[in-house]
Amino acid sequence: MLKSVSPSVVAGYPMLNSALAQLDSAAEIYPVAPDVLDMLRQPQEMLHARLTIRMDDGARRSFPAWRCRYDDSRGPTKGGIRFHPAVCADEVQTLAFWMTFKCAVLDLPYGGGKGGVQVDARALSKTELERLSRAYVRAFARMIGPDRDIPAPDIATDSTIMGWMVDEYSTIVGAPSPAVITGKPIALGGSLGREDATGRGGFYVLADLAEALELPAGARVAVQGFGNMGQHFAQLMEHAGHRIVAVSDSRGAIYCASGLSVEALIAAKREGSVSVLAGRGGIEAIAPESLIGVPCDVLAPAALEGMVHSANAGKVQARIVLELANGPVTPDADMMLRERGITVIPDILANAGGVTVSYFEWVQNRQGLRWPLEDVRARLKQKVTHETQAICKLATERHVSLRRAAYAHGLCRLALAVGARGAI
Ligand code: GLU
Repeated sequence: MLKSVSPSVVAGYPMLNSALAQLDSAAEIYPVAPDVLDMLRQPQEMLHARLTIRMDDGARRSFPAWRCRYDDSRGPTKGGIRFHPAVCADEVQTLAFWMTFKCAVLDLPYGGGKGGVQVDARALSKTELERLSRAYVRAFARMIGPDRDIPAPDIATDSTIMGWMVDEYSTIVGAPSPAVITGKPIALGGSLGREDATGRGGFYVLADLAEALELPAGARVAVQGFGNMGQHFAQLMEHAGHRIVAVSDSRGAIYCASGLSVEALIAAKREGSVSVLAGRGGIEAIAPESLIGVPCDVLAPAALEGMVHSANAGKVQARIVLELANGPVTPDADMMLRERGITVIPDILANAGGVTVSYFEWVQNRQGLRWPLEDVRARLKQKVTHETQAICKLATERHVSLRRAAYAHGLCRLALAVGARGAI
């Protein structure tokens, strides 16, 4: 059964509408021509398809799917494909809008895109999942392409799925085409360092802002969502001497004031849920929704959109919220946190490490090169640090939030590209 609650409605508004408010707010800092703003208020291209596959029992089953190319003023559109029961057109458009700004913020030569399939991937067998992934590529082959629109993993999609997808696309065009998709297995042209890039990027952003935000040594960290990026982020934070005090996943949540071992958490997650650790060595089971309010210095929401909202923002005890997920803090909650002096490090900067290393993968594929892991990490660090410093400077000079500064920073690059394309 599909879940009836869609994340596409945040606090009573379609998600895209609340995302678009960021545009107006950024334009107050970096004024752009009204026609440019108007243009960015709607997606450039959006395609809906019905994916029909044969299930293992022989029955046909259909799934709604979408791909959105939000804006390609700065280059081919780029963004992941999400498999989730609550995926809908509005969500895909919103995520594609955010990708447009994320790529501009990191100065990647890309526009923004996104795709999704409304499906509970956990309920499919491996062969059904492969059929669905291949069906997605067949349905959207006319939209994607190494110079047009480049998908990647997102929620519930991974390198294995990207491998099937790139194989399907290569069959359709009649030649191996590794640069059409990033986040691939290394054996098919994936980049070293892509797997942990999102968590690592978030870690670098936080490290770059540590002094300005007075992040204490041995900071207490709560991570909501323990998928790929939550795990890598937690690992890096632990290595840097910080303490992971609370973690949740879709099946449960735990808290331990003296700190949790990330190795044990990853092993528990492999068994099904981090919550299997509850009861051992002072580890308490807590309600997943109470993770937002645990005593900590850094709260890192790394799950779905809208997790910190007006009804729970008042409970946040952290001084810093690092948005590892896309859109985890609703606009109302964002305002409440700001009023309480809590700094939110926005998604379009905090989780941009993933698409940055995707870009490196695409560059390697097009050049027929393979970069060593140290090169990938050094380039990621350099890019993230450069843009974080620029955004921090803008926020300080203009007395605005990091989110507004990040949007203004991205809008400036978008408006320059639109202008440079001419008007006829
Ligand atoms: N899905 C990721 C994101 O939201 C990665 C996108 C990509 O690598 O293209 O940023």
